[in-house]
Amino acid sequence: MSTKTCCPVCCSSELTVEVKKGSVRVPFGPLVDVDKQIFTCQICGEVGDFTGQNDHLVDKATAISINHSVEDMLTFLANNGVKMSYLERSLELPVRTVSRWKQGKLSASALALLRCVSTYPWLLEVADEGFKAEASKAHLVRNACASAGDYFKACGINVSASVATASDRETNVTINLSKGFDARGVETTNVGHIFPTYSKVAG
Ligand SMILES: [Zn+2]
Repeated sequence: MSTKTCCPVCCSSELTVEVKKGSVRVPFGPLVDVDKQIFTCQICGEVGDFTGQNDHLVDKATAISINHSVEDMLTFLANNGVKMSYLERSLELPVRTVSRWKQGKLSASALALLRCVSTYPWLLEVADEGFKAEASKAHLVRNACASAGDYFKACGINVSASVATASDRETNVTINLSKGFDARGVETTNVGHIFPTYSKVAG
């Protein structure tokens, strides 16, 4: 095929070809190598993908990464106690939808849905409870609290809390977020704070 390849500008077939190594990766997918061919015309100096194959190679590598990502996302969900029948039922998907996904038969919107659920598996519980506003807020807060410690630790942020009674009806809780300590062990850089106010429940 390369013998027939010619320059799109001057039609010369005096070309050199260089392989440019690259890779693609989709969310939750592995890195897949793509070797792109870059042609240079020895007559006019035009540079580019003269065969139009590179886009096809990128699409192929992307499809491989997507297939692996689907497998890995479903395995992740299963390992975290999500039954595939529960996934289908809570999202009101037809029976055996997940089986089709496993065979690579999934639309772009199904892939997007799977990525959302893999990021926040508790969305399935929200769906199972009919997307009710109060229930969804409860799931959000519960899961945010569960993740907060890991998140702050990963960011190197120290968390401390102080509690003050503002009145007999309200209690102010200040959660301080800070980074770093000075020589005396005092926190130095304040990076933010959260001020929830809890109303006391009338006894
Ligand atoms: Zn040329």
